[in-house]
Amino acid sequence: MIVMKFGGTSVEDATAIDRIAGIVKGRLAKHPFVVVSAMSKVTDTLLSMAAAAGKGERDKALNLCHQVRERHFNTAGELLGTGLFTELHSELHSEFDSLEQLLRGISAVGELTPRTSDYVVSFGERLSSIIIAAAFVARDVPATLLDARQIIITDGQHGRAIPQVDEINHLLQLHAKPLIDGGRVPVMGGFIGSTREGITTTIGRGGSDFSAALAGAGLNAERIEIWTDVDGMKTTDPRICPNAHRIKVISFDEAAELAYFGAKVLHPATVLPAVEKNIPVLVLNSRNPENEGTRIVARTPQKSKSLFKAIAAKQRITIIEIVAARMLMAHGFLAAVFEIFERHRCAVDIVSTSEVSISVTVDSNEAIPAIAADLEKLAYVKFSGRQAIICLVGESIRERPGVAAQVFDAVKDINVRMISQGASEINMSFVVEETDVPAAIQRLHARFFSEVDPEVFD
Ligand code: ASP
Ligand code: MG
Repeated sequence: MIVMKFGGTSVEDATAIDRIAGIVKGRLAKHPFVVVSAMSKVTDTLLSMAAAAGKGERDKALNLCHQVRERHFNTAGELLGTGLFTELHSELHSEFDSLEQLLRGISAVGELTPRTSDYVVSFGERLSSIIIAAAFVARDVPATLLDARQIIITDGQHGRAIPQVDEINHLLQLHAKPLIDGGRVPVMGGFIGSTREGITTTIGRGGSDFSAALAGAGLNAERIEIWTDVDGMKTTDPRICPNAHRIKVISFDEAAELAYFGAKVLHPATVLPAVEKNIPVLVLNSRNPENEGTRIVARTPQKSKSLFKAIAAKQRITIIEIVAARMLMAHGFLAAVFEIFERHRCAVDIVSTSEVSISVTVDSNEAIPAIAADLEKLAYVKFSGRQAIICLVGESIRERPGVAAQVFDAVKDINVRMISQGASEINMSFVVEETDVPAAIQRLHARFFSEVDPEVFD
């Protein structure tokens, strides 16, 4: 069997849902288990209406709810035609009526708890899965709706609840396996779950990929397909390099490095349960289903001719240089500095130290003036904003001599501010001015991706 997960843009309207019904139909012989996200932007809107209600802004919350109701009814009407729509009509109305009730209740109390927030936000995947299962049946895909809250058992940390894998595996065998064996196509909403006591939870933003990985691992899937709206992962941002290549196959560790640097296709941590069981994860495009996309595997074939898999950039970085004239290397100084970042909940990316200074990079954010004030009590501090981290990722750079020389030769006319070679030994990062990002990426891409291994790149 296989798991097919469709993200928000792949189910954004009737046209998109009709398209994915065709894609699933073409794979019925593989016995798919389908996981769906909420329709695009619905999760954000649900969070906004919950927040509005929590501030007592009842009308604002109800207005947003009304828009979401309209969108779901229009989509269902378009997909199902009058006859079938009548059957679903009352079900959808009662869902939306209970959501409205809930929003009125939250507004009256004027307080939004994490538990209630999860309940509100769960409507996104509940509604999309109801409509999609019905649309599939209408298109001769033998779908059966599965409530994720019967399968994805979690702990009680609302907003980031932790799935309980053993119980989930047991429930998948109990509820999903017989359906699949009987030729049905289970359709389950991603992202949501429930505690053992039956309280609705969510497993973190973007969590539908995680739900798909859990289902794939629990059902021993042959592969997991993550359907999005791009042709998999690219060697770099095609807006900067129009000749960027599609990456056919990438390792889990490489994909994880890239995700951190803003390659938004999917966050590999969420597919770890699948990778741990050696189940390949494919990133595919529902608008271009013929394209083979990108395959994420536990380990890429050794001895690839290409040094790197991809080049990414993280913009809006600030370098903070901390010069400790007297306390230099004094015991406890580093700890004191990092305690300040910790206190302001500010994540540090790259760190480099010299005899007289520590340089760190952080994402530019509002906390910087406050951090500055605290750091200045300890040392002289200098800030440079509008910087960017360029990151090159590739497992083949391990133990290969001369890599740094090649990289810096390619950008020899660009001012490099900080350099870091990751402890993972699969990435090289350096900091440049934001304005130098396009030139740096273009030169590196020309240097390392002009001739590529056809086994790995398209
Ligand atoms: N709908 C949820 C979100 O937007 C989960 C997902 O789509 O993966 O975060
Ligand atoms: Mg997503």
